[in-house]
Amino acid sequence: MLTFATMKEVDYIIVGCGLASIALCEQLRSNEKTFVVFDDNSQRSSIVAAGLYNPVILKRFSEVWKAKEQLKIALPLYNKIESDLNIKIDYKLQLLRRFASVEEQNLWFNAAEKPKLENYLSTNLVKNTSICIDAPYGYGEVLHAGRLDTTTLITAYKDFLKLNNSLEEKQFNYTKLQIEKTSIQYENIKARHIVFAEGFGVKSNPYFYHIPLNGTKGEVLTIKASDLQIDFGIKSSVFIIPIGNAMYYVGATYNWKDKTHLPTEEGRIELITKLKTFIKCDFEVVNHRASIRPTVKDRRPLVGRHHEHQNLYVLNGLGTRGVMIAPYVADKLFKLIEREQPLDPEIDIKRFKY
Ligand SMILES: Cc1cc2nc3c(=O)[nH]c(=O)nc-3n(C[C@H](O)[C@H](O)[C@H](O)COP(=O)(O)OP(=O)(O)OC[C@H]3O[C@@H](n4cnc5c(N)ncnc54)[C@H](O)[C@@H]3O)c2cc1C
Repeated sequence: MLTFATMKEVDYIIVGCGLASIALCEQLRSNEKTFVVFDDNSQRSSIVAAGLYNPVILKRFSEVWKAKEQLKIALPLYNKIESDLNIKIDYKLQLLRRFASVEEQNLWFNAAEKPKLENYLSTNLVKNTSICIDAPYGYGEVLHAGRLDTTTLITAYKDFLKLNNSLEEKQFNYTKLQIEKTSIQYENIKARHIVFAEGFGVKSNPYFYHIPLNGTKGEVLTIKASDLQIDFGIKSSVFIIPIGNAMYYVGATYNWKDKTHLPTEEGRIELITKLKTFIKCDFEVVNHRASIRPTVKDRRPLVGRHHEHQNLYVLNGLGTRGVMIAPYVADKLFKLIEREQPLDPEIDIKRFKY
């Protein structure tokens, strides 16, 4: 006997369920658009992320690109998800930059006077009071920082999508995509648009594999340090971020060659060695994770429409700061698709010739 699958019609198909996709889903929900998300767990960047958000580049004491605009959209969006899904994901965090010298202290105070940074860098020198930490030159405090619990976000968001019959937990097979002039079809799903948000997985996408995504592998440890007892985060040669129950994230490494998701012994040794330069108490490594960040050579996101097919889009290149950037770029992409509002050339894939 022949059986015919009923056709499902939606406004959007989204490939990927990381930070980029979730931010777009929220745009679609608020604008009453229907959608289906595909995810096969092949990329892990959003799950592995430490989830730190802060408006300052702490290596150079400069403002993150469009920090104010990003935070203005990102925090209300994550807070709305918290309330809609009844979860806690946004943890405000006192973030301290450990000074390695008097020169660094001076650089900090000079930077704190610049108009773009005065709201983000405190001018109080914070003294170290913990016997477990070596910080003779003290710290500078970054204001408006926090940690997004990305693991809880993604797990809960997938459950929410499943409950609404909007998640297909399987690989999206690009060869099955049929593209018409004003619609696309994938198996029994017909949609007006498709947005690819596969992170580093875009390398297998025949429509967008050529966008210049480098990919930078990062590794992060979870340690247990019962004596440390700090409720603030520290950025030094590595960051250490409290996540509760005497546990802390320690990260991260940057590797431009290795494109696997496997945690490595070199990564573990690098993080422990750097941590021991300023943490003096015992700790135990309880977890070690790795993934590929979707990084771009000009450090700007990759957003836009396919040069030939008008209903194919890409939302990628979130780099090292997906938590803050994702809601900002999802908003821009939505406005391009639904309102024909042109993208800022800085984020548009058209800035690269291909
Ligand atoms: C170690 C580490 C630490 C980090 N720390 C931070 C941090 O503290 N703060 C911060 O803001 N950012 C951090 N980042 C960066 C952040 O993780 C990324 O910017 C962000 O997660 C990228 O999100 P994405 O949705 O674009 O990609 P991803 O998270 O990679 O999501 C892509 C999704 O697409 C799915 N997919 C791909 N191909 C297919 C297919 N064919 N079919 C179905 N599904 C598919 C994958 O399974 C995946 O779920 C860190 C990254 C790493 C690796």
